[in-house]
Formats: sequence, C-alpha cells, structure tokens
Amino acid sequence: MNQEQIGKFIATCRKKKNLTQLELAEKLGITDRAVSKWERGLNLPDASLIKELCSILSISINELFSGEFITDENYMKKAEGNLVDLKRREEEQNKLLFLLELVIGLSCTISFITLILIACFANFTLLGKGVVIGISLLIFATGIFFSLKIEREVGFYECHNCHHKYIPKLLPFFFSMNFLRRRYLKCPYCHKKSWNKKVAS
Ligand SMILES: [Zn+2]
Repeated sequence: MNQEQIGKFIATCRKKKNLTQLELAEKLGITDRAVSKWERGLNLPDASLIKELCSILSISINELFSGEFITDENYMKKAEGNLVDLKRREEEQNKLLFLLELVIGLSCTISFITLILIACFANFTLLGKGVVIGISLLIFATGIFFSLKIEREVGFYECHNCHHKYIPKLLPFFFSMNFLRRRYLKCPYCHKKSWNKKVAS
C-alpha cells in the first residue's frame, strides 16, 4: 500500500469528476486541508469516510487502496495484498499504543512513589506534605485514567464463552476486575460473565 500513489489516485479521480478539493471535502463533511493531505500522500482517509469517498469517486475500496484502476483479472490478487497491508498497519498502531500505555503507567508510578517518599522524609510543614501528596495522587489518577482509556480503545476483548470480540462500555470496564491482560466482563453477545482476554485485533 503506497500512500503517495493513493493520494495521486484520489486527485486523478476527483479531477475526473470535475470536483475541486473544497467540493469533495464539503460532500464528505470535512475540511479541504484534509483532502489536500490525502492527495499529497501525507495521510490516509479515515476508515469512516472510505465508503462514501469511493462512492463519490465511483471507484472500489480495493482500487482506492491499490491507487489505480483494477481490471477484473488481478482484482483478487490486489484485494488480498491490500487486506494484509491494512491488517499490518492496524497491528503496528496497536503496538505503539500499548507501548504508550506502558510508558504512561511507568512514569506515573515512578513520580507517584518519588513524591510520596519526598513527602515522608523531607523537612516540610504538614501543609507542604499535604500538597505534595495531593499532587502525587493527581498524577497517579491521571496516569491510571489514560492507561485505562488506551487499554479500552485499543484492540478488543474476546469473550471466553462464545469468542465474540468487542469493545466494552466505559463504566463496566472501569469497575471490572482485571488480571494481566484479562478482565472480568459481561459479554454483550451471549450475556455471560467471564474472564475476557485482550486481543490486539
Ligand atoms: Zn460471549
């Protein structure tokens, strides 16, 4: 999947339809800067826009990701290649987010412990100690919040019972028991509670 080629292809198809970048953007409800970024190969269209974009440009999703018009005979070959590329892209993004989660978690825990130690052993007034402990709790809570947010939104949870994959709702997620990469959640599909495993995609 070549982002630059996809960009040029979008531009070609758009001109074929006699649309300006602004007109295409307005049809999709986005800014013309976003369209310009696609066409310069700086960005790929959001997944939520791809279907509509292809229908406006009268091309298939497969053609969009191949960055060219495709004849029937090599259609399947291109489709498979594109699927593999998309999957790889998603997995790489997920890995980055898991790493970010780890970094946030670690740095917050370290600053929390450091500040608590400072509050205990430094020669501060009671008020000073209170402030330091307050700040450390705030850092810790922020860290937990962002780690959980990333954890919920990256990848899916797989039901132990029926193997349905889903993203849990916010509240049950926050209050569920968890152990390593497993969470005790209610499956929205079979409605059974079990230890659901986190899967990347
Ligand atoms: Zn289930």
